[in-house]
Amino acid sequence: MSETEVMHTSESVSASSVQTRSNKRVKVAWNTAPLPAVPVAEWNHIKRWNPFNSYKLLAHVERWRRIKRGKPLPAPVLVTVDPSNVCNLDCDWCNAAYIRSHRKRMLSKSALLHIADFLPNWGEGGESWEPGVKAVCIAGGGEPLLNPATGAFIDRLVQNEIEVGVVTNGLLINRYTDALSQCTWVGVSIDAATAATYNRYKGLPANNRSFDKILSNIATLTDYARRHNSRLGLPHPGYGVSYKYLLYKDNIGEVADAAELARSIGCKNIHFRPAGATWDNKDTEDAIRFTPEEISLFSEQIRKAQTLDRPGFGVYGVTHKFNTQFAPNNCFSTCHAVFMTAIFGPPASQNADEDSFVLALCCDRRGDPKLELLRDVVDVRQINKVWGSPAHWAVHDAISVHKDCPRCTYQPHNEIYEQVILDDSMTHVFI
Ligand code: SF4
Repeated sequence: MSETEVMHTSESVSASSVQTRSNKRVKVAWNTAPLPAVPVAEWNHIKRWNPFNSYKLLAHVERWRRIKRGKPLPAPVLVTVDPSNVCNLDCDWCNAAYIRSHRKRMLSKSALLHIADFLPNWGEGGESWEPGVKAVCIAGGGEPLLNPATGAFIDRLVQNEIEVGVVTNGLLINRYTDALSQCTWVGVSIDAATAATYNRYKGLPANNRSFDKILSNIATLTDYARRHNSRLGLPHPGYGVSYKYLLYKDNIGEVADAAELARSIGCKNIHFRPAGATWDNKDTEDAIRFTPEEISLFSEQIRKAQTLDRPGFGVYGVTHKFNTQFAPNNCFSTCHAVFMTAIFGPPASQNADEDSFVLALCCDRRGDPKLELLRDVVDVRQINKVWGSPAHWAVHDAISVHKDCPRCTYQPHNEIYEQVILDDSMTHVFI
């Protein structure tokens, strides 16, 4: 029987051992930190069925029950595509800083269109499931709209009936208004409510006007989408532009003002989450720890912000992925998320074919060769050969969550896999 060490070692956590069906003894972390005086409200309770609620993952449990060594593996529901490893900003906390400095390349138009045409067919020939990826998150890497082919890529995905979400810094939205209006959502990373804070965090001089340009770009996009009855402009509560706000020390006092600003320029919601250390800088985690005073200030600010919550505008904080101190909360022992999603990125080596791409398995460890399944290949059909292969399982086997991983974006995926699929902790047939 193996003993699997788990999670983080903060003083706020104690552990007890649980015997799992998979015959492993797993230490489960319990967060025993004192709650802040006023608990942080995650969202208005009448909006609990919202796009940021990770329990939507339960809808995919039947697909993930097929994650079995030696068996064919279904295609992911969602993949991420990074069109560019280049950026026009330099944010303090950039989670792609490593790959931006080591691989300054972009995916070619040919590579992007081949990917777009492959995704609906990924996994075809499987005996008992429908092939195809259902959604693509276009992110980075770097800034995705710096790649001149990103608009054509979005158009092709939409033609292929794949839903698209885009994460952008917003500076170039005006070049892609029509393509972006066809997306389900566009998340714009702003992280401030004033030009002064924005410029300080984004590596810009104090008199820079980018903040105003981004707000104007968003207002134009939301107006265009609404007037053209495009997907992005529909009244659906999950569709639209999201004002993204990473909490990072000095910007917590601007939370309520940012919510007001987001509503005024036509955003469908504002979404907060704490910044964290990156995989290549894990030893700097303490530099982004939040004090009890900062967490109390956030509670006060989010309460003010939530007074703006109404039909047509939502205020969301994703605290269920963190502990009460906003620290990483990796409550699982092994990583099965590497079988649930994938990341397409630009080629790794300088001399790789210009139409090649990398297929990686974790967005939190971009640029880490240990998480790459295909490197600098041109033929997308190779994916069907390696997906679920012994090489894929070898990547999973080599992951040491506690030792190598930062805060895990896929923490809910991994927790649900262990608790609901492996251990049946919910006794799921008793509905
Ligand atoms: S950070 Fe990446 S590799 Fe680590 S557990 Fe999460 S998904 Fe897996």
